[in-house]
Amino acid sequence: MNLQFDSTLMFVGGRWMAARETLPLLDPSTGQALARIARGSAQDIDAAVAAAQLALDGDWGRLTATERGRLLMKMSALVLEQADELARLEALDVGKPLKQGRADAVALARYLEFYGGAADKVHGETLPFATGYTALTLREPHGVTGHIVPWNYPMQIIGRSVGAALAMGNACVLKPAEEACLTAIAFARIAEQAGLPAGALNLVPGLGEEAGAALSAHRGVQHISFTGSVAVGALIQAAAARNAVPVTLELGGKSPQLVFDDADLDAALPFLVNAGIQNAGQTCSAASRILVQRGVFDQVAARMAERYRGLRVGPAMDDPDVGPVISERQRDIIRGYLALAGEAGVSILAQPPVPDGPGFWVPPTLIGGAGGQHRLAQEEIFGPVQVLIPFGDEAEALSIANGTDFGLVAGVWTRDGSRAMRCARKLRCGQVFINNYGAGGGIELPFGGVKRSGHGREKGFEALYGFSVLKTVAIKHD
Ligand code: NAD
Repeated sequence: MNLQFDSTLMFVGGRWMAARETLPLLDPSTGQALARIARGSAQDIDAAVAAAQLALDGDWGRLTATERGRLLMKMSALVLEQADELARLEALDVGKPLKQGRADAVALARYLEFYGGAADKVHGETLPFATGYTALTLREPHGVTGHIVPWNYPMQIIGRSVGAALAMGNACVLKPAEEACLTAIAFARIAEQAGLPAGALNLVPGLGEEAGAALSAHRGVQHISFTGSVAVGALIQAAAARNAVPVTLELGGKSPQLVFDDADLDAALPFLVNAGIQNAGQTCSAASRILVQRGVFDQVAARMAERYRGLRVGPAMDDPDVGPVISERQRDIIRGYLALAGEAGVSILAQPPVPDGPGFWVPPTLIGGAGGQHRLAQEEIFGPVQVLIPFGDEAEALSIANGTDFGLVAGVWTRDGSRAMRCARKLRCGQVFINNYGAGGGIELPFGGVKRSGHGREKGFEALYGFSVLKTVAIKHD
């Protein structure tokens, strides 16, 4: 099947429609124009929400859970069939290495497969209650769900959020990021190819403060799933509060990996570095703080620095280790942080060269000497920058690890099983990985944060509960 589509169009009520205006998309590897996308307006959001409601009242709402699951499975197969093209689009649009684009396409297919398979396995319960009654619970869709997605992992985030929402029978309005949205448009095309009933999935690209704000404030939307920055997450939650609808907020992080003296360093090393430089560090769960016990600190620092020096930085289509960052703005923010490395005591341990010429380049940078309270160790940089922080004992490691505003993910490297479990229980975050980091994406594993990393859980079965509401029915009988 052919994945041709016109990037300037929106997909509303099963039809491709032009917006009144368009916006440019840039290729981060060159800084040059890549395509144009629709600049969806508040009226376009109105139309999309109305189309979603019509779908719920019509063909989409009438499908059984099994039928919905089969459609998601069909979409999964189409994604796999077209994985090379999706990988190419994601690499061009986001600037991520081609192999990462391919991994993201496979992850999208897996989300659709997982949620397709799970669609008819979520059910309510019968409840012990008073004599002469039968009481039961039903899991029902919220109705129209809004999905506001960032630019760093469009395919994966659409898979985990829209995939789960569709599985539960919601009708979705998707607002991808203005910086990167080609695979979101391709996803709508795949939904069309799979025969998803009109209006079950609606796509309105556009600016955050226009289409995004209109979607989060819309009276016809019954649940909002947002992935992005803390500042915008707070705006979304405030808008949703005015309509008293639930939100899932997947926000930022400053995730630590704790490396104890007894760790298997050969096993740890690739995870320590990859979790910092993947997608040029523009990953919410990036391990941007590496906390190392003093006994192995110098060794870990030297070995990580050696790996950094060998990193190949280049255009996404050359499939480098590290591509460009998404935009000039993002590049300047990261460079601002790197300038702090000139301060007293803070040193750059390794910084491989970046290409000359156009494109949004930031050198992968390993930093030492910044204490746990330094801005470099506290704030989300969202670039290929990792900070090494020494610690003495377990208590100090936990105190540094928990000592930021964020709480998304943490990693622990040790051969001591009791210590690993103690740390897992005491780390304040949504996911802990022992002697690994990220578990290869972990589609089956509930994901989300505490503190300013957000609330609510996506991925795994947990997402299906989040994208449904529980109704209790009590039947009086003889
Ligand atoms: P962002 O918050 O600027 O944008 C995210 C989305 O929100 C985009 O679609 C944007 O158009 C939209 N938006 C912007 N302003 C809006 C408004 N006023 N109303 C409604 N929508 C609006 O974030 P970003 O710069 O695109 O992404 C970077 C941030 O996202 C980082 O902090 C990162 O950690 C976080 N992130 C978190 C996860 C996670 O799963 N926890 C995943 C990826 C990114």
